[in-house]
Amino acid sequence: MNKIRLATIWLDGCSGCHMSFLDMDEQLLDLADKVEIVYSPLVDVKEFPKDVDITLVEGAVSTDEDVEKIHLIRQRTRILVAFGDCAVTANVPAMRNPHDPLNVLNAVYKDRELLNPQIPDKVVPPLLKRALPLHHLVKVDLFVPGCPPSAKTIYHALAELIEGRPPDLTTLSRFGA
Ligand code: SF4
Repeated sequence: MNKIRLATIWLDGCSGCHMSFLDMDEQLLDLADKVEIVYSPLVDVKEFPKDVDITLVEGAVSTDEDVEKIHLIRQRTRILVAFGDCAVTANVPAMRNPHDPLNVLNAVYKDRELLNPQIPDKVVPPLLKRALPLHHLVKVDLFVPGCPPSAKTIYHALAELIEGRPPDLTTLSRFGA
């Protein structure tokens, strides 16, 4: 049987959802029999591949670069999962939404005692006016809430998807979330 091609990625997130993924501990070994990780911060692959079965997307969409990434991921993924509250609702990244992005950048990079206060204009991608949840830009196939989702929730969601069933996450307390 061919293994499921799994990708994980973070956009504007804190990596906490990926830490919870690693908290699956020995259940990762169960998944390893059925899944090939084809792209992830956890493996050394530079380009998001084609023909991905499942992608877990952590984080909100906050920059021009995130917009490009989420559209590419959508094109190349069969089941796109909004992974954690930042992906589901924009959560923590959305705390900046009431403010003008330039004021946010000034507050972080200029309005304090720094040696060379300056707003970076290279490498750091421009901020969108607001941080957005994934479903504002692309079709999402499954929402996995939690900040972060518990390891049990993640395992349940992946195990069901691998078996071709829609996960029932309506009673998250069963999974310690
Ligand atoms: S949902 Fe929580 S743990 Fe996950 S990226 Fe956002 S802030 Fe971090």
